[in-house]
Amino acid sequence: MRRSSCVSRSTPLVKPEILRRYLEFYRDLGVRDLYRRASAPLPQTAELGLAATSREPRPLSLFEEPSSAAPAGETLADIREDIGDCRRCRLYEGRNTIVFGMGNERAKLVFVGEGPGADEDAQGLPFVGRAGQLLTQMIEGTARKEGIPLLRKDVYICNVVKCRPPENRIPSLDEMETCGQFLFRQLAAIRPKAIVALGATAARALLERKEGVTRLRGNWFRWRDIPVMVTYHPSYLLRAYNQSAKREAWEDLKRVLHYVYD
Ligand code: URA
Repeated sequence: MRRSSCVSRSTPLVKPEILRRYLEFYRDLGVRDLYRRASAPLPQTAELGLAATSREPRPLSLFEEPSSAAPAGETLADIREDIGDCRRCRLYEGRNTIVFGMGNERAKLVFVGEGPGADEDAQGLPFVGRAGQLLTQMIEGTARKEGIPLLRKDVYICNVVKCRPPENRIPSLDEMETCGQFLFRQLAAIRPKAIVALGATAARALLERKEGVTRLRGNWFRWRDIPVMVTYHPSYLLRAYNQSAKREAWEDLKRVLHYVYD
């Protein structure tokens, strides 16, 4: 962590013990630099996922819980405020709106996509275009079939990058790192029981694994102590030649829904 040169020697505003916990918390999130005003990018790396396992994730023990608790009780509104009218990377140049995320702040399940497309950029909401409609069907249709009372509004949906990449290109690594800090803070604030990484970009941001989705899907990993399931991005499933992947995505989702809501 970089240290400020202007640390006051008078009575600290925050008790050293609390400050230490803050710093440890952000260090564990991968945040390497802290600024007095969060106006600059905070480069960081995602927590490594554990080795893939096809078993259901082991429930967390009480002793694992405290490490992931945000000490400040940071809310999504705090994080959104911190993002402000963001110009931390070049994606701001072509965006209309920042697409922060939507859904239940206390969701047990979070879906992470890649980045906003044209519809999302226009409306300021994630997954509202064709891929979004398919995601809604996947969530609500699978839940209904499995007898789980769950609607899209009950989960939380967000993206790795919050601004639309030009021509819907894949976000670059530096854009993912710059914006990823906010994704990590969103996840730490919500503390879901599980996360679904939709596609390779989300998997890479959360797990730092470069394998393709075909290799990763259907297995549990972890981001910090939270189980992560990787599955196909809905846009991929919309392509006619990927229809066989749909069945696999439905299987992945079924497994996640039972793990989270049974
Ligand atoms: N694709 C994404 O990854 N995210 C969206 O919000 C929409 C499409």
